[in-house]
Amino acid sequence: NKQVIFKDYVSGFPTDADMYMTTSTMSLKVPEGSQAVLVKNLYLSCDPYMRARMTYTHTSYIGSFKPGSVLNGFGVAKVLDSGHPNFSKGDLIWGFTGWEEYTLMTSTETLFKIPTTDVPLSYYIGILGMPGMTAYAGFYEICTPKKGEYVYVSSASGAVGQLVGQFAKLLGCYVVGSAGTKEKVDLLKDKFGFDDAFNYKEEPDLASCLKRYFPEGIDIYFDNVGGEMLDAVLPRMRSHGRIAVCGMISQYNMEKPEGLCNLISIIIKQVKIQGFLVRSYYHLYPKYMEMVLPHIKEGKIVYVEDTVEGLENAPQALIGLFSGANVGKQVVVVSRE
Ligand code: NDP
Repeated sequence: NKQVIFKDYVSGFPTDADMYMTTSTMSLKVPEGSQAVLVKNLYLSCDPYMRARMTYTHTSYIGSFKPGSVLNGFGVAKVLDSGHPNFSKGDLIWGFTGWEEYTLMTSTETLFKIPTTDVPLSYYIGILGMPGMTAYAGFYEICTPKKGEYVYVSSASGAVGQLVGQFAKLLGCYVVGSAGTKEKVDLLKDKFGFDDAFNYKEEPDLASCLKRYFPEGIDIYFDNVGGEMLDAVLPRMRSHGRIAVCGMISQYNMEKPEGLCNLISIIIKQVKIQGFLVRSYYHLYPKYMEMVLPHIKEGKIVYVEDTVEGLENAPQALIGLFSGANVGKQVVVVSRE
């Protein structure tokens, strides 16, 4: 069983030297009499929150990785053997799994059976999985959007951002996104249908840039990055605007998070700012699936993935999130069947 092992706690930017590969042997049968489920991992998800789990003194809501242990995260897998009455050999599932070829799951709490296979299986770690639910809950529940409103999305070409922009367009909002390369900016405009987009790395003055793209101001900011972008957005908010604080990726590798200077705008503009965790919204998953599956089938929503082949390339793919190497949802293919 090939595995990706977490070496030790990280400070600053993670590198691929913070993880290493090992190979061990394991039985491909669940122990007699146990309710465990043995799966073959097919697709693994690289997610920014995994950085918080690489730190010991973290403020994350989920525990740290243990040095010397296999990494884990969301994945899509196939059941090879099961002692659990709800899972049988051949079932396809998504949920929490190990960064390894095979995982013996003793807890099945976070395993979900895959309801339909007429979409790519990897979608269950993207548009039909945690990032999809994040975009859905964050946009509809937190931002309470209305037709015609001005919406700004940062890290807009990523796993979450590309969906927020498309949901906003379906509702009839005016949507601008930002991303870190020309390729991503083109994708936002040409593939995801954003009204406009810009490369934040080429903008020396974010305040005047936002003024250019939002002369009337911003009603909704879906924040994936935090830091100076959030600070620049605050004075540009319209009265009674809403900000969904989804992520702060610009801060994850910093020892001391950056301060914000423009907080007074929250009062002046009567802005509602709300942070949220997707895990509080999984009860909406059936409703989300009902909405999103027809849109996918009719081509009204598209989803771009950045696919890396091979478990051995997973560490590089994960650290690539923090330099913006991924174009779309970062997926690692362990096996296609
Ligand atoms: P993405 O697919 O968007 O990948 C991360 C992207 O972040 C990179 O491609 C890069 O794009 C951008 N980025 C990296 N460093 C910086 C930086 N210093 N400043 C600005 N942008 C940067 O990730 P996800 O869509 O999976 O996640 C987006 C955000 O949502 C993250 O902050 C994540 O933590 C958060 N999240 C929150 C959840 C919740 O429950 N609240 C659940 C899931 C995700 P670029 O080239 O544009 O710089």
